[in-house]
Amino acid sequence: MTTPLSCRNYINGQWLNAVGEATLESRNPADKTEIVATYPRSQVNDVDTAVASARKAYRSWRTVPAPARAEYIFRVGEILLQHKEELAQLISREMGKPLTEARGDVQEGIDCAFYSAGEGRRLFGQTTPSEMSNKFAMTVRMPIGVCALITPWNFPVAIPCWKAMPALVCGNTVILKPAEDTSACATKLIEIFQQAGLPPGVINLVHGVGEEAGKALVEHPNVDLVSFTGSSETGAFVGATCGRTHKRVCLEMGGKNAQIVMEDADLELALDGAVWGAFGTTGQRCTATSRLILHRDIKEKFTTMLYERTSKLRLGAGNDTDTDIGPIINEKQLQQVSKYLDIAREEGAKVLIGGEIASEGSLKNGYFFQPTILDRVTPDMRVAREEIFGPVVALIEVSSFEEAIAILNDSNYGLSSSVYTRDINRAFTAMRDIEAGITYINGPTIGAEVHLPFGGVKQTGNGHREAGTTALDVFTEWKSVYVDFSGSLQRAQIDNRS
Ligand code: ADP
Repeated sequence: MTTPLSCRNYINGQWLNAVGEATLESRNPADKTEIVATYPRSQVNDVDTAVASARKAYRSWRTVPAPARAEYIFRVGEILLQHKEELAQLISREMGKPLTEARGDVQEGIDCAFYSAGEGRRLFGQTTPSEMSNKFAMTVRMPIGVCALITPWNFPVAIPCWKAMPALVCGNTVILKPAEDTSACATKLIEIFQQAGLPPGVINLVHGVGEEAGKALVEHPNVDLVSFTGSSETGAFVGATCGRTHKRVCLEMGGKNAQIVMEDADLELALDGAVWGAFGTTGQRCTATSRLILHRDIKEKFTTMLYERTSKLRLGAGNDTDTDIGPIINEKQLQQVSKYLDIAREEGAKVLIGGEIASEGSLKNGYFFQPTILDRVTPDMRVAREEIFGPVVALIEVSSFEEAIAILNDSNYGLSSSVYTRDINRAFTAMRDIEAGITYINGPTIGAEVHLPFGGVKQTGNGHREAGTTALDVFTEWKSVYVDFSGSLQRAQIDNRS
């Protein structure tokens, strides 16, 4: 067993313990007897120091030319590339996802680095004619200030990169408060930012409990913006607090993503998509497929195919090359999945396969749950409406394309969606009528690329999109600039027209 990593906060370019010296542990979810790391249990005073450091650094960082800021992020991308395997191994150990997926997590960070850094030479504004002669008008993007980045455990490298990289290129300084369960991954990531030579205070790391360090950041009067990814419940608190304290806020919360399979679909292709979408990352992606909406003409055949494929999936530790499905992140989440199985049974759904905690043999010390298919689910059941965040997929039968779209849309959430059909008219109708931030045609609900906007409608978000050029709208504000070179007072038309 490897010696636990001793993580610290990173504030003003220095690695520090929490003032109170208290620490917590993160454990391997595939083997809870293994402590992966210890990390500081930061409190309000640690957050105060981090915010002061970020505030001070902001004064000069905002004036560093954007292409020069971006060069640091290019360097982060290069160093990430060199450390990809080492980081992926750590992700597997601390978060549990299979190594191939863990490499993808780091790759997303690398892609984000190169994409965001490219923006350093764009950050385009507009020029536009003035209504007066000898007057010039333009818009420029301005940084916002100190950004608190509060992140979940399911993409412990990718999500902090998605937030920190565009924020820094735009001229903000940041404080990362990572999820408790993936403190070691966050520490290693920040070490890479440190190696890239970012000036002290530009990026800071504060470990700790959400209700303590996270809450202190959200409430802090000197934090200007909060970018949050996590549960709807915490997101509601973050949104309300930011509203009350007049902070900018970007929220990325739950999903109840559905894949539709029509009777004309390529069923093998739809099956690959369903298995990957539902059980990839043990169903612990915001974009995971948790509903399969199946046309009645193919329902039985497709269900049999899905059953067979699911029965072959192997549970195990992420760094075991035979593993298809890793553990659930922690005991609380495991119990949550288990609770939803009780609810499903009470509501009359049929457990086709799985449905139980798995603890046999090498799984005994981990948080494993069998990949599960729930049949005979109706749209009003809680398992069809609430996010489970585990390897559980609900089958819903429909009689028409219109009904399929209506059921897909019958959700409080609207992150990702997918339709398998060979009919071009249906594909375009789906693109138009599905209420979601992301729609895939003949692809699974998971697999976002960093240069496209990421986010959802309805209760999934608050109208922002991460990634793509849309991330710039989160991390900058527009300034309109007028330059009058006439040498005399020119009044705008509103003050001038009779
Ligand atoms: P999950 O329960 O799925 O882990 P959370 O929304 O609780 O999702 O956690 C996402 C992130 O939000 C984590 O970094 C967590 O520490 C943080 N967090 C939890 N509660 C709060 C809170 N009250 N204020 C600020 N951050 C919080």
